[in-house]
Amino acid sequence: MKKVILVKNGEIVLKGLNRSTFEDILIKNIRRRLAPVGTFKFHKSQSTITVIPDDDDIDFDLAVACMKRVFGIVGFSVAVVCEKDIESIKAATLEFLGDDLRAVRTFKVNGKRSDKRFSMTSPEICREVGAHILSNIQPLTVDVHNPELTVTVEVRDQVLIHGNQFKGAGGLPVGSSGKACLLLSGGIDSPVAGWMMAKRGISLDAVHFASPPYTSKRAEQKVKDLAQIVARYSGRIHLMVVPFTKLQETIKDNCPEDMFTLIMRRMMMKIAQRLAQERDCKALITGESLGQVASQTIGALACTNAVAEMPVFRPLIGMDKDEIITISRKIDTFETSLLPYEDCCTVFTPKHPKTRPVLSMLEEAEAAIDFEPLIDEAVRGTQHCNIDAE
Ligand code: ATP
Ligand code: MG
Repeated sequence: MKKVILVKNGEIVLKGLNRSTFEDILIKNIRRRLAPVGTFKFHKSQSTITVIPDDDDIDFDLAVACMKRVFGIVGFSVAVVCEKDIESIKAATLEFLGDDLRAVRTFKVNGKRSDKRFSMTSPEICREVGAHILSNIQPLTVDVHNPELTVTVEVRDQVLIHGNQFKGAGGLPVGSSGKACLLLSGGIDSPVAGWMMAKRGISLDAVHFASPPYTSKRAEQKVKDLAQIVARYSGRIHLMVVPFTKLQETIKDNCPEDMFTLIMRRMMMKIAQRLAQERDCKALITGESLGQVASQTIGALACTNAVAEMPVFRPLIGMDKDEIITISRKIDTFETSLLPYEDCCTVFTPKHPKTRPVLSMLEEAEAAIDFEPLIDEAVRGTQHCNIDAE
């Protein structure tokens, strides 16, 4: 049986003249994501992209698993292609969907004749195929309003038959909204934040701050593992690991203790921004959530934000921890995030951090130290690598 994948794209249809560009990005992303499965040709029509395998023997279960993670797809189905005559349609329906039909109690047939030269009308196709199913598979009843399985028969330049659609990942195709730089720690929040922005069409670079020997190689590997999981959805992530020890030690040795965290966060933003600009990223992304910790109060965020010269996206800002955890389980980063390795944020944490910081006081404390050469050195010492999904 020759099979194809039919893709219903999401908000793309709303994009008017840009639609074709969006579709091309989506096709490129699907092609990349399906590379482990095989090679494919793509055919665009009104609201559907047809994905046609070059080889008939590919693993469709694997293809379905890959497709479920591609942003920009509302739903998709695997369809069988058959001859344009009703006897072939009936036989192909039973062969392709027999097992699915035996697993349910109710069904309906949805006939769609767009090739008007075909001799039967849509209602006639429904009746004929429905009767054939009923006489071959028992017990089954037709339920036109709320069927467990809908058998769709589309008569176009060829005939396509498929069952229920798989739910797609939604959102916009990665790359269609440009590129941004994710501040990726080893925690629960930042991988979720990256996933959320990738869902809105952002392609991701990531920056991680490491402070050896306070933070270990295992902690860095954990961050690479997290990036690899996020890359299943976002595609390749360019990861930058910044040597942050010297800056942190300088802050510790020279700044008032209750300001450690915020000064450190401002330095992180400055460095991330430098790296982001070098790589043509248009925004930064963090996993901050309002009020979660002392450095995420409205006043603390204002102080961190004051050094930003590009938009900072904080997609988790209004979410509770349990809502974030639900997503992190869904995208499979949770278990890895829980591994108990140290993060640079947790070394030198003050006992009593400021929750109502005053920007001018932070700026004054910072002015006493020449941070610029340290920032330059950190940027120059940054290690770059590309992370792809396995
Ligand atoms: P997460 O669970 O993502 O670690 P968190 O709740 O622990 O977040 P913080 O440690 O205050 O919160 O960090 C807030 C945000 O700052 C993180 O979500 C991340 O975007 C960024 N961040 C923190 N530490 C690092 C790091 N070592 N490298 C890169 N970004 C970091
Ligand atoms: Mg953290």
